[in-house]
Amino acid sequence: MSKSTIQTPDTASVQTQPAIRTQDLVKTYRSGKLETKVLQGISLAIPAGSFSCIIGPSGHGKSTLMHLMGGLDRATTGEVSIAGTALSTLSDSELSELRADKLGFVFQFFNLLKNLTAVENVEAAMMFSKTAPKAAKQQRARAHELLALVGLAEKADAKPSQLSGGQQQRVSIARALANDPEILLMDEPTGNLDSQSEQQVLDQLFKIHATGKTIVVVTHNSDLAAQAEIIFEIKDGSLHQAVQPAATKV
Ligand code: ADP
Repeated sequence: MSKSTIQTPDTASVQTQPAIRTQDLVKTYRSGKLETKVLQGISLAIPAGSFSCIIGPSGHGKSTLMHLMGGLDRATTGEVSIAGTALSTLSDSELSELRADKLGFVFQFFNLLKNLTAVENVEAAMMFSKTAPKAAKQQRARAHELLALVGLAEKADAKPSQLSGGQQQRVSIARALANDPEILLMDEPTGNLDSQSEQQVLDQLFKIHATGKTIVVVTHNSDLAAQAEIIFEIKDGSLHQAVQPAATKV
């Protein structure tokens, strides 16, 4: 038997490693004496390369879950692992590094820096990355490439105030891709868009998913959720159900 056909247990586990795993995830917010347990112990696995949606009523913990999955906030108890790395084992600076290189974020209100142009907003995301090009010229070239990918080559020098909502969201998608992350986490990316802009943003999402990236979207958009490979439904801070709509289509 040739050496290459032997799979060590380690190799096998790396190949089947989910992009994101949460184990018994609890988040409690404290304000004075008041405690609110927003996540009640959520365990789920998001396969690498999948397109998942997180749905559920407002105020039931979807954004909180996404923030914890992205290492933007720490869990009260329980664990989040990204490609097998348990986030609780990382220092704050190691967590920032992992976020910069492995994760891209897109938010409902775009969160672009208003004094920077589109291309500068994309470049800014490369500042904290270990893997992004270091030379300013290369960073600029990559930022232009990403803006072209989202169909905004001509808007590179526009400030956010000179762009429509849909265009701003596409800049924020380009920014999320700046460091070529494996995972994109999106919180209501179409929640603030008209239907034409929404379609343009969804087209970008599907295009990016086709390149093999793991995409997780918190959404109220039922058309989008219907196209997901897995839908996680969150109710009252718990995982109510996980369904695979694409698998049930004839
Ligand atoms: P969803 O995304 O499903 O609308 P969220 O995760 O945003 O829900 O919020 C879930 C609950 O947690 C809400 O009741 C919200 O008010 C509360 N919450 C969210 N963030 C905080 C915070 N920083 N401090 C206190 N409560 C919070």
